[in-house]
Amino acid sequence: VKYLYYKSTRYALQEHETVLECLLRQQVDVLYSCKSGVCQTCLMKASDGELPEKAQAGLKATYVQRKLFLACQCVPSGDLKIENADEVSDAKAVLVQKEMISHNVLKLCLSPDGVFECEPGQYLTIINPNNVARSYSIANNVAEDGFIELHIRLHEQGVMSKWLKDSAEIGDNVTIRGPAGNCFYTSEYKNYPIILAGTGTGLAPLYGIIKTALARHHQGAITLFHGALRNEDLYLVDDLKGLDEQYGNFSYVPCVLSEGGDLQSSVMDNLLADKTATRFFVCGDADIVNALKSKAFIGGLSMKNIYSDPFLPSSNNQ
Ligand SMILES: Cc1cc2nc3c(=O)[nH]c(=O)nc-3n(C[C@H](O)[C@H](O)[C@H](O)COP(=O)(O)OP(=O)(O)OC[C@H]3O[C@@H](n4cnc5c(N)ncnc54)[C@H](O)[C@@H]3O)c2cc1C
Repeated sequence: VKYLYYKSTRYALQEHETVLECLLRQQVDVLYSCKSGVCQTCLMKASDGELPEKAQAGLKATYVQRKLFLACQCVPSGDLKIENADEVSDAKAVLVQKEMISHNVLKLCLSPDGVFECEPGQYLTIINPNNVARSYSIANNVAEDGFIELHIRLHEQGVMSKWLKDSAEIGDNVTIRGPAGNCFYTSEYKNYPIILAGTGTGLAPLYGIIKTALARHHQGAITLFHGALRNEDLYLVDDLKGLDEQYGNFSYVPCVLSEGGDLQSSVMDNLLADKTATRFFVCGDADIVNALKSKAFIGGLSMKNIYSDPFLPSSNNQ
C-alpha cells in the first residue's frame, strides 16, 4: 500500500488513484477545477517522495524546481508527503466593474491588491467565498491599465458565472490565483503572420493578444476569426471593426454558423498559406480548439507555433 501524508494525517492510496482523487474520497477540502491538468487550480507541493513526470507537465521551471505539482495528474509511485503550495500566493482583488456586453457575456474588471504580473492571454483562477474555483482568461494589458479585464460566459446552471452576475457586488473582494498559460504575445513574433481563432468567450485571450500586438507595432498580418452560432452570440463587434479600419494589418472575420459561416474551414484556408512562419492562437470550446489544433498540425504547422487554451468545463459543480 502507498500512503499520502497531508497535514499530519496518513491516507492509503488506492491503485491508480491521483492525489486529488484520494483527498476528495477522504472528504478533504481541496481546491480544484478542470481535473485535466490545465487550469492549475489544484497545485500542491511535495515535501518528501518522488513525483511522476506527468504531475509537473506544463508547469513553469521555478514550480518544477520547488516540487510543486498538479494533484489531479499525480499518481504517486510510492509514499508521498504533500503540503499546500504556499508559494503560489493567492492575491486579493476588488471587483471594480461589472457590465453585460452581450446577451450572455459579462465583462468583469478586477483591481488587484498590489502588482499582479501577467501577460494578456494568460489565465487566472477566481476563488469565491464558497471556495468555488474557475479559470478565466485575461483580456487586457494589466500592467498598463491597472485592472484585470475578464469576459465571463453566463451558463444557466453555472455556479461561478451565476454567482458573479447575481451575488458579487462592486467593491467585493475575490481571491485570484495565477497567472498561468503560454497563450500570449511576445515581440519575437513581430514580423510573422498571426492567426487567431476562437469561439464565444475564447475571444477574451485573443482580444488581449491582438491589442498587445498592435500596441507593440506588430509588422505581420493579424487575422482574427471569431466563431458564433448566431449573430447575437458575437460581441465586441464594433470595437473589432474599429481596429480593422484603423490598422492596415489587422482583419476581423466573424464566422456565424446560422449565416453559413464555417469557422474551421475559414481558418484552415488562411492558416496553410504560410505554414512555416504563421503563429496560431486558438481558444475557447475545447472540442473546436482540439480539432483546429490537429488540423493545423496535420496541415503542416509546427506544434511549437500553435498556442491554445481549451476552455475545459469545470468538473466541480459544488
Ligand atoms: C484555461 C481556461 C481558461 C478559461 N477562460 C475562460 C474565459 O475567459 N471566459 C469564460 O467564460 N470561461 C472560461 N473558462 C471556462 C470557465 O473556467 C468555466 O468552466 C465556465 O465559465 C463555467 O463555469 P460556471 O461555474 O459558470 O459553470 P459550471 O457550474 O462549471 O457549469 C454549469 C453547467 O454549465 C454547463 N457548462 C459549463 N461549461 C460549459 C462549456 N464550456 N460548454 C458547454 N456547457 C458548459 C454545463 O452543463 C455545466 O453542468 C476557462 C477555462 C479554462 C480551463
